[in-house]
Amino acid sequence: MSKSQSAVTTLDALVVGAGISGIYQLYTLNQQGVDVRMVEAGTGVGGVWFWNRYPGARFDSESYTYGYFFSPELIEEWDWSEEYAGQPETERYLNHVVDRFDLRRLITFEQRVVSAVWDSEAARWTVTTSSGDVWRPRHLVTALGILSAPAFPSAPGLADFRGEWAHTGLWPDEGIDFTGKKVAVIGTGSSGVQIVPLVARDAEQLVVFQRSPNWCTPINNFAITPERMADIRSRIGEIWDATQLSPSGSMHRPIMESSLEMAADQRRAHFDRLYDSPGLIMALGNFRDVALDKRANDNVTAYIAERIRARVHDPELAERLIPKDHGFGQKRPPLENGYYEVFNEPHVSLVSTGEEPIVRFTETGIETVHGHYDLDVIVFATGFEAVVGSYNRIDIRGRDGLALRDHWEAGPRTYLGLTVAGFPNLFLVGGPQSVTGVIPRATDFQADWVAATVAGMRERGETVVEPAEAAEDEWIDHVNAGIVGTMQETAESWAFGSNVPGRKRAYLLYAGGLPQYRERVKAATADGYRGFKFSS
Ligand code: NAP
Repeated sequence: MSKSQSAVTTLDALVVGAGISGIYQLYTLNQQGVDVRMVEAGTGVGGVWFWNRYPGARFDSESYTYGYFFSPELIEEWDWSEEYAGQPETERYLNHVVDRFDLRRLITFEQRVVSAVWDSEAARWTVTTSSGDVWRPRHLVTALGILSAPAFPSAPGLADFRGEWAHTGLWPDEGIDFTGKKVAVIGTGSSGVQIVPLVARDAEQLVVFQRSPNWCTPINNFAITPERMADIRSRIGEIWDATQLSPSGSMHRPIMESSLEMAADQRRAHFDRLYDSPGLIMALGNFRDVALDKRANDNVTAYIAERIRARVHDPELAERLIPKDHGFGQKRPPLENGYYEVFNEPHVSLVSTGEEPIVRFTETGIETVHGHYDLDVIVFATGFEAVVGSYNRIDIRGRDGLALRDHWEAGPRTYLGLTVAGFPNLFLVGGPQSVTGVIPRATDFQADWVAATVAGMRERGETVVEPAEAAEDEWIDHVNAGIVGTMQETAESWAFGSNVPGRKRAYLLYAGGLPQYRERVKAATADGYRGFKFSS
């Protein structure tokens, strides 16, 4: 076939996206004997771990809780080198998995999906990719990632800039050499906080553009010795159980004791221990009441502010690095490694864009309301159009030409975070209203559910599944109820889409905790797939 002719492939299931969730979905469907293929926009597997190859990118979750648990052989043969593995290691791991389970032959790369249209008559999707290829799957499984549609500042002029620039979520394969250069990093979320110390190490000058400071705590990463790896393997069943009991799918569970009823010195000793422990324990293993009670939250917030003040020499600068608009944990807090100390260095400066907004990008740098910053490199650590952004960038049309974008205009609408009314045989894995915490611990359960549902339909001779609108309404009420009364409820954060200008505020994740999520899905499934309509 010549390149000018596009291929049309008819099949049972198409998985979109070769990230950690999509790879497992491909594996499970293939295991069920479903005729399945995968398309991926990039040239390699890894999803977030393929695109976010910026210096400093690494797990915030314990490596072995983020990796797969489905294969004892895989656990036996893969050694993690650090408690929080860096991007290159994770990318290697995912490549290893794809080859180890012979999945690469099922993946077609450089196929960005541009449209997916439901064909009621044929009871199939018509999926068209950027290369013009057409896929005709019975079932369409989207594993697009919640943080995969990069967002940029709206200031004009970037096309004029003659230096190098890159977004952390679309980092060039060949990397960027900061040595001796004048560099700006825009954005101080998890990505910005990870890259800043490494840019500061090499650059001649670094200007950090901060719109809102975050509550960052130390990652306290460490190498995994062969002895520790053997110990992890011997406890892997226990580790799995811990992830299943934890609301965030991590090793951490909140302390249920009241921090408010505790003596101040005892509470402080707890905070000291959490701050100096590895990982996200300060957020995920803290007292439950700091997420629910403003007075408890104020205590931990004041504690972390004190730790920041002790690390930044200039008191005025320290205050600018301390959030004033939200308490600890209201937004997903970044982990850092030497972030605050960077601001003690003479070649590093901080621009608060609230006081000094960016006006435009110029040929030679960034113009603000107060002046011009000459730059060789601009790093955009400006985040993503989270959760729904990757869906909105595809023209997805369900029954009667209904566009998913329109259906989701006021916020995402799903049933169980897995399906959408009016969009038959469309499955979401790691999409809106279902995920939180350690993403693969939410999505491996979802991928198993999708594989079992598709296999069950095949056995029963059913071709179409779709949720009822009433079931969707109920799920939305349940999702929204989970965030009410928590400290997160009022946060300005990507979890509500508030970083995207013009986006209607809607909670995009699932705050009820993963154990409850799984129970809800299992209960509906055991109850004859309550809320779903199947047809032949
Ligand atoms: P983010 O948390 O959305 O942070 C984006 C940053 O850019 C924010 O500081 C934001 O300010 C700023 N920004 C956006 N537009 C701007 C503009 N026009 N001018 C100035 N500043 C602007 O994105 P992220 O850092 O990429 O992280 C997103 C999520 O990815 C994290 O919350 C985390 O869940 C995940 N992540 C995880 C890891 C890890 O596990 N190690 C690493 C990186 C990311 P505002 O706060 O004011 O919006």
